[in-house]
Amino acid sequence: MKKVNDWNEIHAAQLPIFGTKGQRRLRRSRVHIAGLGGIGLSTALNLAAAGVGTITANDPQTVSVDNLNRFPFATPEHIGIPKATLLDRLLRGRPGLKVITSMQRNEESGFDQFCQKADFIVSCANTVESRVAAAREALQNRRPLIDISLADGRIAMAGFIKLWLPQNEGWSACPACYFGDNTRVLRGEGIVGTVAAGVAAFAACMVLQLLTGHKAVVFYERNFFIIEFSKPQVESMAVVGRKGCIVCGDAHSSEKLNAYDEVRTQALVEGANEKPSAALERIGLLIGPH
Ligand SMILES: [Zn+2]
Repeated sequence: MKKVNDWNEIHAAQLPIFGTKGQRRLRRSRVHIAGLGGIGLSTALNLAAAGVGTITANDPQTVSVDNLNRFPFATPEHIGIPKATLLDRLLRGRPGLKVITSMQRNEESGFDQFCQKADFIVSCANTVESRVAAAREALQNRRPLIDISLADGRIAMAGFIKLWLPQNEGWSACPACYFGDNTRVLRGEGIVGTVAAGVAAFAACMVLQLLTGHKAVVFYERNFFIIEFSKPQVESMAVVGRKGCIVCGDAHSSEKLNAYDEVRTQALVEGANEKPSAALERIGLLIGPH
């Protein structure tokens, strides 16, 4: 077997896009993936293939049989192993890549260390609390954050990407801003693996653009993206922060956080520079699943 250790040779196909400088930036970058379900695993694999040098990830769950519809490389022998271990195994042996994984939850101590060391955080855990924890760490440490979720597949084959950048702090909604008071968030109803993988690839490409600076300007003006396969279309918009957001707004008490057990999303439309499209009212927002 040919020994592959030439970094540029591995990434030859994308050098005309990112250049050797951009490719070096990727190699020096560290991205943390919070949640290794269909979206998180796919995002991690895409970023590793593109040459991000250090991937860290946490997920407390093990692989279950129903994960196999969105884990293309998993086989029945992987059922029961930690999802973190699966990622380790899939990426083992890739030149120039360091992988560090953990079974910790976002709410546990240690998660903050991952976030503090990361150049970028990708949030795709399957509970609101976990997503709020990731948003809080990103904002406190001023780390770029992408939060990825899927619509209820019965309503639309679609996904949502919420981007928060430190340089957009003055106006940009954080992922927790979207948890408001009205629309009920659906859970765990209908996932096609291709939708999870497609949305993950879209988000991973955004991470690459922002890490290398390649055509990243749009992301300083837009922070919310709806990728809809069943229509199909992509919408991008600017959503401003919400007063009273439990992460970036005025109230930060734990009582407030508990009140969000029943997740609601009216905040999507409040205070937007551009009105988020009617699609949001049609499409159920789904947290997770793994
Ligand atoms: Zn917020």
